[in-house]
Amino acid sequence: MARTLFTGVDAGDMKVEVARQDLQNLLSGSPIAFMNQSHSDQVVVVENADRIPDADALVTTTKGLSLAVLTADCLPILLASDVAVAAVHAGRIGVGNGIIEKTILQMQELGARDIAATIGPAICSECYEVAPTMYADFVSQVPASATNSDRHCLDLRSGAIAQLAAYGVSAVVRDICTKESVEYFSYRRDATTKRQVSVVTL
Ligand SMILES: [Zn+2]
Repeated sequence: MARTLFTGVDAGDMKVEVARQDLQNLLSGSPIAFMNQSHSDQVVVVENADRIPDADALVTTTKGLSLAVLTADCLPILLASDVAVAAVHAGRIGVGNGIIEKTILQMQELGARDIAATIGPAICSECYEVAPTMYADFVSQVPASATNSDRHCLDLRSGAIAQLAAYGVSAVVRDICTKESVEYFSYRRDATTKRQVSVVTL
């Protein structure tokens, strides 16, 4: 059974390797695959943690390999099934560029059925105000992310949940706002390079 972990142990700057070692200890030494995230739509299948690919979603069918996604306000989405798991970095750009759909399709290609999602701590719709034109553009693309046009805040979680539901994937949501919860890192609150890490293991 796949397991998921959300924690604030990762750090930015020079401390990142130390934090990754702490995380590895927490996972009892299981190898952890990270990715170079850039808000792309790249989904990469990995079999080990030997390299750090340019990607915003990792998929594996390797038992015991953990997949990590780093986030501050973006959505960390962990997908699990009996044969494959995935870690997805989905902020506004990722929800807009279809990375959630691409990851599900890749998992299905590898034989995954009955996929379940967990969405980790991320900025909430109350806190995610964007420019009116950006709001209008995004909502026309992802209608489920709409809140109201006076405040032009985006509801990325609802957008992601709708995209998952379109593939029959139900989501458990950790209803924690990174901007409002000081125990989590928030780019909008602190302009920090620090990130929390979310991990899924098959
Ligand atoms: Zn909030």
